[in-house]
Amino acid sequence: MSKGPRDLVRDEVRALKAYAVEPAKGYDVKLDAMENPYRLPPELARSMGERLGGVAVNRYPDPAAPALKRRLREAMAIPDSLDILLGNGSDEILQIVSLALAKPGATVLAPEPSFVVYRLAAIAAGMRYAGVALNADFTLDEKALLAAIGRERPALTWIAYPNNPTGNLFPREAILAAIEASPGLVAVDEAYFAFAGGASFLEEVGKHENLIVVRTLSKLGFAGLRLGFAVAPAAWIAELEKLRMPYNVNSLSAAAAEHLLGRPEVFRSQTEAIVAQRAKLARSLAAIPGVETFASAANFILARVRDAPRAFEVLRERGILVRNFHGSHPLLVNCLRLTVGTPEENARLIDALAAVAA
Ligand code: PMP
Repeated sequence: MSKGPRDLVRDEVRALKAYAVEPAKGYDVKLDAMENPYRLPPELARSMGERLGGVAVNRYPDPAAPALKRRLREAMAIPDSLDILLGNGSDEILQIVSLALAKPGATVLAPEPSFVVYRLAAIAAGMRYAGVALNADFTLDEKALLAAIGRERPALTWIAYPNNPTGNLFPREAILAAIEASPGLVAVDEAYFAFAGGASFLEEVGKHENLIVVRTLSKLGFAGLRLGFAVAPAAWIAELEKLRMPYNVNSLSAAAAEHLLGRPEVFRSQTEAIVAQRAKLARSLAAIPGVETFASAANFILARVRDAPRAFEVLRERGILVRNFHGSHPLLVNCLRLTVGTPEENARLIDALAAVAA
């Protein structure tokens, strides 16, 4: 009997694949990770630097982060009647929520394809995971979802709204029906809310005992800060707080986010530019022979091409990094996920895809 990981690590963990991030080195157009392509305006970067210079890094952060939470409430119209749980990115929120609900034998449910961390966090917490396939056009199979809720009795159901990697919003009524039918918690993950034209379940939180909303600052332009959060009634947050490691959000990130959220007009104009570019990119993609696009309410577009592995390689040779989903799920045959970039980046992407099609 060895004492190495082969024998000691849980079988289900050994069977997992680590979340893969393609190194960005060598690419000058990075459209793989739904980042905001715009840097901070120089004056804002400077004032943030000054602010960070004043942070007492010899001290532990204030885990309650009241000033940051106040800014989040203002920036996102979070009512005082609801509480906020801060995470090191919303990835950590997914992990904390899973851990809290991992009663022996508990199941996590999510439409598929969706964000792969739902499954990863479930397995890490020792839970069962069950996926519900979307329709071939990536719309929600509402009957299948309700049937799965009845069959699996999930402790936790994830709904990405809009969904990643497909970009669409599932029908609001269908999600409300799932919340109603579910014996467990339904977590609506609004990572892409800023691009969804106001579509959100935030107003529903508190009206249903088993609903929470998860958001992140990553796609707004602050992916490097690693700051995500859950919004829920106080009784839920009080339980989740017990599983949050005491200083999970570091004082530099908290101070930077607080500073940046004080200038909402900056990221609002950036997200507006991204939404405008999304429409333009969708039109340009649709004009390329052999490219099929799917409607997106997020800052990326899922596109099906004739041969995704080949297109991915051609883009790579031109210094453009996108995400190739071919082979990751049966419904994603020949699908590439294209983050909306700057007008120049999008033009290079379109040129390259047109060259592949030619
Ligand atoms: N939820 C969804 C649906 C996502 O697509 C992502 C990022 N890919 C996340 C959560 C996690 O984002 P972060 O950890 O950067 O907050």
